[in-house]
Amino acid sequence: SKHFPVRRTGRDVVKRTTHHVHAVDDVSFALRRGHVTAMVGESGSGKSTVARVMAQLHRQTAGTIRLHGEPVDVRGGRRFRAYCRAVQMVFQDPFASLNPIHTVRYHLTRALRIHGNAGRTRAEREAALEDLLASVQLTPARNYLDKFPHELSGGQRQRVAIARALAADPEVLLADEPVSMLDVSIRLGVLNLLRDLKDRLRLAILYITHDIASARYFADDIQVMYAGQVVEGGDSETVTQSPAHPYTRLLVESAPDPDRLTGRTDAPEDSAQGEPPSLISPPSGCRFHPRCPFAMDRCSVASPPRLEVGDQPGHWAACWLFDTPSVEAAS
Ligand code: SF4
Ligand code: MG
Repeated sequence: SKHFPVRRTGRDVVKRTTHHVHAVDDVSFALRRGHVTAMVGESGSGKSTVARVMAQLHRQTAGTIRLHGEPVDVRGGRRFRAYCRAVQMVFQDPFASLNPIHTVRYHLTRALRIHGNAGRTRAEREAALEDLLASVQLTPARNYLDKFPHELSGGQRQRVAIARALAADPEVLLADEPVSMLDVSIRLGVLNLLRDLKDRLRLAILYITHDIASARYFADDIQVMYAGQVVEGGDSETVTQSPAHPYTRLLVESAPDPDRLTGRTDAPEDSAQGEPPSLISPPSGCRFHPRCPFAMDRCSVASPPRLEVGDQPGHWAACWLFDTPSVEAAS
C-alpha cells in the first residue's frame, strides 16, 4: 500500500492535513522471469505508483517487497543495493528521462560504471557500450554513441533508455507506458524489442499501460487496476476474451479496435464511462459500486475478496457477483 499525505494550500499557509490519498491499497502480485505481466488501468488508478514503489522511488506505506523470497527492507544496505540493481525502470517519456546536454555515450557509460559493468580497460568499456546498443538494435554503435538525445528519434531515444536500464544487468524491468509517447508506427517495434529481451535475458517485465489491446498483444498475464486496487487478474487471453469484473468488461468494450497498436493514435486514456472516484475518501465496500451497473446492496458495505471465476486456472475477480454459495449452503 502507498498513501500520500495531502497538502492543502490556504491563503498564507501550507498546512499538512490528516488527509491521505490512498494511491495503492493492498496490491499483491508476483512477477516471473521470462514473463510479461501487464498492469492495466485508467490514469490515476495507481499503476505508476505501484511501479515507483517497486523501484523504491517511494517507500511503501505498508507491505513487503520480496526478491527471490527475500524481503527488501533495509534502505542503503547491501541487499537494498542488490535489489536496486536487479530492478530497473523505463519511463514513459524518453525525452524527459535522458539529459539533453549529454550524449548517448555519457548516459550509458555512467550507468555501466554505477553498476560496476564498465570493464577495466577502455577496450572493455567500448565493447560493453557496443553490446548495449546492439541489444536494443541500434547498430553500428558509432552512429549513435556521440549523439545527443535531440538528434535521435523518439523510438531511438526510448531504445537508449532501455539500453541504460540493461547496463545494470537487471532481472526485472518496470516499463511505465513505455510506448504511449511514441508514434503509433514504431510502438510495435519497441514492444517486440522488449519481448525479445525478455526471452533472451529472461527478464521479468511489468508492463504498465492504459491500453488493454496492447496488454493483450504483449503480456502473458494481466492485472486490472481500479482506484488503487487490483480488481481482476489472469492470463491475458482469458482476461481480454472473457473479462469477469464489470470494470474490466467496460474497459474491454471501450477499447474499440483490437488492432489499435497499428491504427489510431487518439485512444482516450479515460474511456470507461463515469469518473474514477476520489482516492482521498474512496467509496466504501467495492470501490467500483458508484459506477457499476450490477451493484447490489452488499457492494457498498463490504469489499469483495478475490474470487475464482470461469474455468481457466488463475483467473480471479474481486467482485461479489462471483460469490457463488457453496454446495452445502445451497442444499
Ligand atoms: Fe459491481 Fe458489486 Fe461486483 Fe463491485 S462487487 S463490481 S459493485 S457487482
Ligand atoms: Mg502513469
